[in-house]
Amino acid sequence: MLGAMQDHPLLIWRLIEFAARNHPTTEVVSRRVEGDLHRYDYQSAVLRCRKVANALDALGIARSERVATLAWNGYRHFELYYGVSGSARVLHTINPRLPPEQIAWIVNDAEDRAVCFDLTFLPIIRAIAAQCPTVKHWIALCDSDRLPADTGLAGLISYEAWIAPQAEEYTWPDFDEKTAAALCYTSGTTGNPKGVLYSHRSTVLHAYGSALPDMVNVSARDCILPVVPMFHVNAWGVPYVAPMVGAKLVFPGAALDGKSIYELLESEKATAAAGVPTVWLALLNHVDSIGGRFSTLQRTLIGGSACPPAMIGRFLAYGVTVQHGWGMTEMSPLGTISNLKLAQLALPAEQQRRFLEKQGRAVFGVDLKIVDDAGRELPWDGKATGDLLVRGPWIVSRYFEGALGGAMGSALVDGWFPTGDVASIDPDGFMQITDRSKDVIKSGGEWISSIDVENIAMAHPAVAMAACIAVPHPKWDERPLLVVVRKPGTEVTPRDILDFFAGKVAKWQVPDDVVFVDSIPLGATGKMLKTRLRETFRNHRLPGA
Ligand code: ADP
Repeated sequence: MLGAMQDHPLLIWRLIEFAARNHPTTEVVSRRVEGDLHRYDYQSAVLRCRKVANALDALGIARSERVATLAWNGYRHFELYYGVSGSARVLHTINPRLPPEQIAWIVNDAEDRAVCFDLTFLPIIRAIAAQCPTVKHWIALCDSDRLPADTGLAGLISYEAWIAPQAEEYTWPDFDEKTAAALCYTSGTTGNPKGVLYSHRSTVLHAYGSALPDMVNVSARDCILPVVPMFHVNAWGVPYVAPMVGAKLVFPGAALDGKSIYELLESEKATAAAGVPTVWLALLNHVDSIGGRFSTLQRTLIGGSACPPAMIGRFLAYGVTVQHGWGMTEMSPLGTISNLKLAQLALPAEQQRRFLEKQGRAVFGVDLKIVDDAGRELPWDGKATGDLLVRGPWIVSRYFEGALGGAMGSALVDGWFPTGDVASIDPDGFMQITDRSKDVIKSGGEWISSIDVENIAMAHPAVAMAACIAVPHPKWDERPLLVVVRKPGTEVTPRDILDFFAGKVAKWQVPDDVVFVDSIPLGATGKMLKTRLRETFRNHRLPGA
């Protein structure tokens, strides 16, 4: 017997219509590429989302066709999130930090019909346009008087001129909630990028899950500032969660340095924020340098790569709680977040910290398991480490079958998605990533966690950033090398740093050597590019090797 409740599909446009009706005067504030602040509210935003949908109809873009964006976090990008997906087209967010050849490849694989871009990225558009025959419309996210002349781009129009003539009414279509809504390619450090195709259902369910108090914990009493870009797994879902719960939204645009973020957090009275560790490092350094404080910020979601425990401590000293989260593009992206349970509140602070430093507990909707090399499930004892697998309604089942990538078939192994991460899970369900499987250092048959080594190094007062990589070794196969960026004005030797490991890990886990560099290369999503480092230091002679 079927249940007798309404068959009301979970569609993305309902989120913005809900916000407009229930939270009409709640603000959406954006730092524009032009430099100034733009502010409006959900009741004004929905009108422009509807204009976008009408404008797409006018261009004759069919349902399920892809409309791409190359844009910072801002209100126009936000309107495209709803106008494109809401009208049953697919929003394809592209990471502008990728090399132009890769962007062109992605546009062609997705067969994008239109590309909407911030003027910052005009040079990229100029470089790729001739190689992108499927794109019929280039839309610059600006007023028409800002549109540069002589771009040589056929079909270029300003966003404002494009939507201006359109009606503010729109009858959003009803359709199957499993319909594709958004497409995001994984960074793909090796091989071609792979497209992950989210559905309306997966996106709305992910938003419900993220908003929960033990996840990102967002409500109508919040003002949330996603520093994580809208081209990086939909800013971790924040542009969907905020309208769902009626939170104020603040978009930082292109100004992502510590000073600009700090000023925006303060002036807009943000209570919550989200971003990768590298962004927060710059923010903390800035606040330290001016002797500032956070007047309203209560918590920040940190993920994308491991959050060093030292960073959690620095935020806590300012009265800000870190929500350490883990996920990936294939997971929409949220999987786990570290938040304490009732019984843990009675523990001494130091023991609580041990839980908070882990990547956290799963949300309902994400099943986790760890397995050994033979695929046998490992116990949740906090000690056994193995390959981490996931499944759930907002986790990929197969990659997008693009025009260039060909059919890839299922992305699953026996119904589970292999994350490529190595992890342990404790009896309370707290998962801890020890490594990306390709970053693990295999020394004489034992595994060394590069994340553990980095976390210790990051606690050294002279270390600004640290990466631990494997270097080939004649006897042990691989040994750890620590690559360090020193804090400006500090004097420290490799020996000082290696001495700092004494008593913190077993002797054989201490790196064999330390090299100092001016900077560590970062990938398109702000993660350390260990593949590049491994190449650079492939022939590094370790002492005694
Ligand atoms: P995202 O866009 O969320 O960064 P990606 O698909 O680019 O996702 O990368 C996902 C990978 O990033 C994960 O499989 C994991 O290796 C790493 N990662 C994400 N969050 C964390 C974390 N908190 N700790 C350690 N690694 C993490």
